[in-house]
Amino acid sequence: MQINISNIPEEGLNLRFSKGGNWFHQSLPMGDDSGFCVRNIDAQCFAEKILKNVSIKGRIETGIELECCRCLEKFDLPVEIEFKYVLMPADDLKKDDLELTYKDLEYGYYEGDIIDLGQIVVEQILLQVPVKPLCNAFCKGLCSVCGINLNIEKCNHETQQISSSFAALKNFKTKRER
Ligand SMILES: [Zn+2]
Ligand SMILES: [Zn+2]
Repeated sequence: MQINISNIPEEGLNLRFSKGGNWFHQSLPMGDDSGFCVRNIDAQCFAEKILKNVSIKGRIETGIELECCRCLEKFDLPVEIEFKYVLMPADDLKKDDLELTYKDLEYGYYEGDIIDLGQIVVEQILLQVPVKPLCNAFCKGLCSVCGINLNIEKCNHETQQISSSFAALKNFKTKRER
C-alpha cells in the first residue's frame, strides 16, 4: 500500500484496497492492547501530483467494535471517513508558510519517493476511536449497587444515572397527562 510518486501519472492515480482488521492492529505503533477491534477495511484513494506536492483524497469504510464505558457491553460503531491530505517533500518543510496555504486541509510530508498509504489509513481510523465509547447516547449503564445492566433489567436501587433535571421533566410529563 505504498505509492511510488514517480508512478503517479499526470491525470492522477486511483487506488482501492481492502484489508482485514488484523492488518490494522499489527500496524499499531503501541502494539495490540488497544481495547477495541477494527473490522474489515475498504479504502479508496485518489492521488495527484501538484508540482512537488502530492494531494491525496480518500474514503475509508470500516467498523470498530468497542466496549461501552457505561454498561460494558460490546457494540459496533460503523465508520465512514473522508480525508484529504497534501503531502510535501520533507526537504521543503522548513518553509513555514504551509499553514496559510493549506488552511482547510491536513498536510504532511513524504520522504524519498514513497508515500505510505497504509499509515494514513491507520491514522485516520485511530482518530475515529472515541475516548468514551457509548453503545448509545441513552445507555443507562450498570446499577452501582447490584451491577445489573439497566438497559436490560430493572432493580430497586437508587442510581445516580438519572440527573435531577431529567427526573423533573419526567414528573412534569406525568402531571400533564393527568
Ligand atoms: Zn452501554
Ligand atoms: Zn441494583
